[in-house]
Amino acid sequence: MNNKFQKFVWLNNFGLNYLLIFLLLGLFLSWIGLGWVLNSFLILVALIFIAPMIVLWRIRWWLQRDLVENKCPVCSYRFTGFNKTEGRCPNCGEPLKIEEGHFYRVIPPDTIDIDAVEVSVNQLED
Ligand SMILES: [Zn+2]
Repeated sequence: MNNKFQKFVWLNNFGLNYLLIFLLLGLFLSWIGLGWVLNSFLILVALIFIAPMIVLWRIRWWLQRDLVENKCPVCSYRFTGFNKTEGRCPNCGEPLKIEEGHFYRVIPPDTIDIDAVEVSVNQLED
């Protein structure tokens, strides 16, 4: 633990030294009229750090807008798909169309969709 603390202190001193050198260099450059070099370097560093954050934010926004999680209308298997696309259910293989946050079956025009009803023997006898 003592060794880790010494390492931490050494790292802190190392960082402080670089920060001090950077500040002195900045003051020197602005004193001799080359402040634009420092400014362009700082802008470049800011772009390097800010650009990936903007890209990640944009990807996250796009995924939240276009990813749809819903249940298959045939087998009720819950999965994720992209909005306004067609695909198949990974569980039952049914062709599905994904629109407005829901999964819909892709049915040929002449198909009649029916629901099977289980009738018990007692009902038949009555
Ligand atoms: Zn399914």
